[in-house]
Amino acid sequence: MQKFSFELIKKDNKTKARAAIIHTPHGDIETPAFSVVGTKASVKGLDETDLKNAGSQVVLANTYHLYLRPGVDVIKKFGDLRNFMKWDGPMITDSGGYQVSYLWTKGEEVGQSVKITDKGAKFRSHIDGSIHEITPEKSMQIQKILGADIIMAFDQPIKLANSDRKNKEALRRTFDWEERSFKEHKKLKSDQALYGILHGGLNKKIRKNFLDYILTAGFDGIAFGDETIGADPNFTAKGMDTVSEFLPDDKPVHALGLGGGPEGIFVAVERGMDTFDNTGITRMARTGLLFTYPEDGGLSLNKFRIDINKSKFKDVKKPISKTCNCHTCNNYSSAYIHHLLVSGEPLGVRLTTIHNVYFINDLMREVRRSIINGHFNALKKHWLGERKY
Ligand SMILES: [Zn+2]
Repeated sequence: MQKFSFELIKKDNKTKARAAIIHTPHGDIETPAFSVVGTKASVKGLDETDLKNAGSQVVLANTYHLYLRPGVDVIKKFGDLRNFMKWDGPMITDSGGYQVSYLWTKGEEVGQSVKITDKGAKFRSHIDGSIHEITPEKSMQIQKILGADIIMAFDQPIKLANSDRKNKEALRRTFDWEERSFKEHKKLKSDQALYGILHGGLNKKIRKNFLDYILTAGFDGIAFGDETIGADPNFTAKGMDTVSEFLPDDKPVHALGLGGGPEGIFVAVERGMDTFDNTGITRMARTGLLFTYPEDGGLSLNKFRIDINKSKFKDVKKPISKTCNCHTCNNYSSAYIHHLLVSGEPLGVRLTTIHNVYFINDLMREVRRSIINGHFNALKKHWLGERKY
């Protein structure tokens, strides 16, 4: 079984964009790449065949959710998460730090935070109200059982809306928790790749210190974290600019929860990100927000997407995108997809999710090709025009 390693293939000569291969025990990830999110060991509506056909190379699952249900004892019986959900490619798990720190975040199916101390985070399960505690050590133990190729250190993300005092405390704690995660990971003799999560908001000095710590400690990769990467590409650019120039050539970098659609992707790739995950791509698909290529009229102004629920699609014979080569666009009309979604038919969600996942994977393949062939900037211009971030 091959060991985890990072192989740099080509660097863009004007930006930090790079094409690489992340070798993992369960296959290679050709980067830049999107990791589709299967929070509860499922990418809602899609099975392994759908994911492979949509070009997915890697799946990210959530430690917090899987720890509560089905629970680690069930996963253990199957060997690991991969066998449980029947996905034979590379996997990533996050540490649960985000969920247990921000359980009150609206719109997420999570419980209630009880208390965060230096030891760990106590919380109430959103399923049955029972009280649990996840510590850095426990997060590593759970992630070892889940068995993903890439795992994350346990952290307490800062929240920009919080007071400086509160964020200072979270940052201090995160340093400590990541160090404990690293120690526990060594103790468990796990061959999983452990990424240190890089915090610091928009503060250049803190980001740099954190990066230095991650590199000195010897983490296998870097995960760019906290709220500075989200739906607003301008804000993402600011966050990543704090540290982009210092990112090393020999470690993979993952952007945690990168939003902003194609614009966010270009922003992140040209600042040195190799992989990223985002729940919005599949969530948008479920609500009928579907990505389109520049050739279909997708541009910054409409965020490269259409709302298929709109009545103007009710009799359109053309597919969602004439450029897209996904199962949905190759077989179905916009009118049929519109009908399925407005009628609440489960097939609609499956077909729209296939489209959005294929679209992002296809864009990432195109981005990778452009870096290798030396025309990344031309591709960026084709998508974003003269827009600068
Ligand atoms: Zn499509």
